[in-house]
Amino acid sequence: MVASAYAARIAHRAADFGVTIEGRVSVDMKRVKARKDEISGQSRTGLESNLDSLKNCTVYRGHARFESPREISVGETRLAADKTFINVGGRARIPDMPGIDQVKYLTNSSMMHVDFLPRHLLVVGASYIGLEFAQMFRRFGSEVTVAEMSSRLISREDEDVSRR
Ligand SMILES: Cc1cc2nc3c(=O)[nH]c(=O)nc-3n(C[C@H](O)[C@H](O)[C@H](O)COP(=O)(O)OP(=O)(O)OC[C@H]3O[C@@H](n4cnc5c(N)ncnc54)[C@H](O)[C@@H]3O)c2cc1C
Repeated sequence: MVASAYAARIAHRAADFGVTIEGRVSVDMKRVKARKDEISGQSRTGLESNLDSLKNCTVYRGHARFESPREISVGETRLAADKTFINVGGRARIPDMPGIDQVKYLTNSSMMHVDFLPRHLLVVGASYIGLEFAQMFRRFGSEVTVAEMSSRLISREDEDVSRR
């Protein structure tokens, strides 16, 4: 998606490079998403077949849940182990903003399923992913507004030092 947004940006700026584009530059978000899905799908399929053929490694496909401190079930299968490594990833934290329960909103993961161009995208949280999507959708053609509660953007990074 970043690459598609970059292509849109360069196409819009083609004249700066001495390149003439006849007609209007437009972005087909369905094709942008399809391209992204194809690339990530290939990566996923490759990893899956690699794991499936790995000696002494068994992949169970399904939702795992604890049945007891040392037992897990995945569908009909029960698995037992002395030690379990829980690696279920992180979920977006939905801030307790007044009225948020009354509107439709996207998170960092549901954003990946967007196949249309929002007229106006409001990004709450200006760290890596928020800003990445802000830049991307601006390049695709959305109007973008970013809200950040810290005094500066990407506050985990070092502060810029102004040179005299
Ligand atoms: C939009 C976006 C862009 C990002 N860009 C970058 C980047 O450019 N560079 C970078 O380094 N990082 C990036 N990240 C962060 C990166 O994706 C995460 O840090 C990484 O995926 C974390 O890996 P993980 O294995 O801990 O968790 P995840 O990738 O979240 O994997 C957890 C897996 O566990 C599965 N699972 C959850 N519960 C269960 C259950 N009960 N039973 C079975 N399975 C379960 C989930 O379905 C998922 O497949 C990005 C993240 C997002 C959302």
